[in-house]
Amino acid sequence: MKILVINAGSSSIKYQLFEMSDRSVLAAGLVERIGEALGHLKHKTPKHPDIEQEAPIPDHQEGLNRVVQLLLDPETGVITSPDEITAVGHRVVHGGEKFSAPTVINTEVLEVIDALSALAPLHNPANLTGIQVAMKLFPHATQVAIFDTAFHQTMPAHAYRYAIPNELYEQNHVRVYGFHGTSHLYVSKAAAAHLGKPLTATNLITAHLGNGASITAVSQGRSVDTSMGFSPLPGLIMGTRSGDVDPAVIFHLANVQGMSIAEIDKLLNKQSGLLGLCGDNDLRDIERRVDEGDAAATLAFEMYAYRIRKYVGAYTAALGQVDALVFTAGVGENSPAIREAVCTGLDALGYALDLEKNAAGKTGSVTEIQAAESRAKILVISTNEELEIALQTEAVLNGD
Ligand code: AMP
Repeated sequence: MKILVINAGSSSIKYQLFEMSDRSVLAAGLVERIGEALGHLKHKTPKHPDIEQEAPIPDHQEGLNRVVQLLLDPETGVITSPDEITAVGHRVVHGGEKFSAPTVINTEVLEVIDALSALAPLHNPANLTGIQVAMKLFPHATQVAIFDTAFHQTMPAHAYRYAIPNELYEQNHVRVYGFHGTSHLYVSKAAAAHLGKPLTATNLITAHLGNGASITAVSQGRSVDTSMGFSPLPGLIMGTRSGDVDPAVIFHLANVQGMSIAEIDKLLNKQSGLLGLCGDNDLRDIERRVDEGDAAATLAFEMYAYRIRKYVGAYTAALGQVDALVFTAGVGENSPAIREAVCTGLDALGYALDLEKNAAGKTGSVTEIQAAESRAKILVISTNEELEIALQTEAVLNGD
């Protein structure tokens, strides 16, 4: 069975075509700069890893049209008809409280995703456009929505409610939703499999440290708390997002500094985090500057690690007992320095790193890096959100 995974952003489409019998990737790519003067498409297959196009790509329809043409290309293509694709799995950022599982898309589901744009104005409209275009191009395929928020719908009210007047939750749906759910679930399943335990008997802290970053407490396989909230802004320090700040800073910026809400939104989402602290948002550049003795980069690095360490402490308290602390995504998988800075001083909490194993890095899809005396395992796990979307889509088709 072939499943196409689509992650449609406001000006981009990421995609992967899977052969589910062996989970191999038949083709993958990225359409970027949709709507700009010159769009860009990168496409690869195992035999043709470097296909690129530059041309105006006015909208998502044209973007996906080009992808379909490449998939069908007589020389470099991997299918002979769009009907070979049994299902399309779509990443949808916000499922609100309506969706806690992958969902076959019909007219009603489309309407709810559209209505949820009020909660995710930057993401859901683009996800919706991707679905609508895919429905036209693959009319025989089952279209399935996989929500970033779904995994966190198991959080108890004491974790997902904010201490603000009840009406704001009851009427305006203001609560913690959490994001990156597909990745947190994928690495949770991989960790449980590695530990040889059922997921439903496994307690984990999963740290997804990429350009966006979040950390989740997983009790018996279910998300019980997570660091992102109503939006992806709070929690950990990210590439350009501030993570946690006192909301009164916003009043100050508006009332005293005279900034508009739009300006503050941009400041906290796009100009803050590592970028705001030291002018770089890629941790590789920051680590290089730390090695050179740069003070701003060193503070940014220390704050980044300290924030994660605080959450590990908080979630250890939330869970009571933890089987494994999991590091994943760009930073989590590739930065021994951050993993070391996070774990330093956590021995008493049950996390003791083996410095050599940590420095050696990933040796497979799951790598243990804890010392012999560590109560909890410390794991580096390669995340694969696209595969998780494909697997969940397949599970829906199989009625699981
Ligand atoms: P992601 O969003 O998961 O693709 O993660 C992207 C981020 O991972 C980049 O912005 C980098 O900051 C970080 N990253 C990737 N490789 C490394 C590395 N070798 N060392 C430190 N950070 C890295």
